[in-house]
Amino acid sequence: EDWLSMPKVELHAHLNGSVRDSTLLELASVLGEKGVIVFSDVEHVIRKNDRSLTEVFRLFDLIHILTTDHKVITRITKEVIEDFASENVVYLELRTTPKNNASIGMSKRSYLGAVLEGIKAVTAVDVAFRPHSSDVGSQKNSSLINHTCSGSARKKIYVRILLSIDRRETTEAAMETVKLALEMRDLGVVGIDLSGNPIVGEWVTFFPALKFAREQGLYVTLHCGEVPNPKEIRAMLDFQPQRIGHACCFEEEEWKTLKSLSIPVEICLTSNIRTNTIPSLDVHHFADLYNAKHPLVICTDDSGVFSTSLSNEYNLAAAAFGLGKRELFQLARNSIDFVFADDGVKRELKEIVNSAEKKLD
Ligand code: 5GP
Repeated sequence: EDWLSMPKVELHAHLNGSVRDSTLLELASVLGEKGVIVFSDVEHVIRKNDRSLTEVFRLFDLIHILTTDHKVITRITKEVIEDFASENVVYLELRTTPKNNASIGMSKRSYLGAVLEGIKAVTAVDVAFRPHSSDVGSQKNSSLINHTCSGSARKKIYVRILLSIDRRETTEAAMETVKLALEMRDLGVVGIDLSGNPIVGEWVTFFPALKFAREQGLYVTLHCGEVPNPKEIRAMLDFQPQRIGHACCFEEEEWKTLKSLSIPVEICLTSNIRTNTIPSLDVHHFADLYNAKHPLVICTDDSGVFSTSLSNEYNLAAAAFGLGKRELFQLARNSIDFVFADDGVKRELKEIVNSAEKKLD
């Protein structure tokens, strides 16, 4: 099946987890020559495919060494957007953790600045990223339905940014991220994510910042239940975020609460299998949630780290759960209801999916 051509929305993608292997190897070779790292050690880690959750977080520490630089952040942002657009992702919420790094003059604000530069640097496709710009002229191709003069449609993608709070961070650092998101709202930052190693940190540390984010009208999504932690899962569900990611280690009671609250779940199949969070696809909670008609979105998580793509994730879902083209089109269309964007954007995305589906007949 051709999932590549199907218009898709990607709602759970970490910037530094979505970097092309070729870019990581190139960056590693430059740092190797400078003597900052030993290239052969790094190459081995980058090329390795199966990783436990613990190894994944070790890999992120390595990736962060390779991408520590404003220029590199701009470059990877541009490449990641182009990669998603090239497989017909028409709406992308890209999440990333703003980082302070005094030694290279990086602040959370300047990190985000480098990300926003990356969005503007995209040339392969047209990007719409300013949520509140109603003036079409102020933004190049703010409508995805625009066509070029020649009549051939250029690829277009909506991009929104979520700022991640890393579970290693303090309440103050988390609050700084939320304030930065508020400051950059007009530039495409629409929400907050909580991520990072799930065995690190406590809910009470992040709660004040997440509460503030919600009070200020930012959208919130939480990595929830990646490891068994009933107390935290309960606190997270009580918080009622707009979406959660993963939901792998839920117990009966927690499923009940989740379903009664209808909180959409971002499903990352390859990620869950590669990290051994779920033993195999035939026991994945996707099936139960899908059959219960619970709101679901198929996502990549870290297309670079897990060597996957959104098309591949759709392909896996189709094969593992016996879903046909119609069903996955319906799933893609339903996902649009859970994007962190206004009704105008949702309407346009639905039109795009509908018109692609019509071509199936
Ligand atoms: P960044 O925020 O640096 O752009 O993207 C990488 C970061 O995303 C990681 O350091 C980690 O905090 C977070 N991340 C990526 N994948 C996962 C995942 O599967 N689970 C969790 N909890 N966090 C992740």
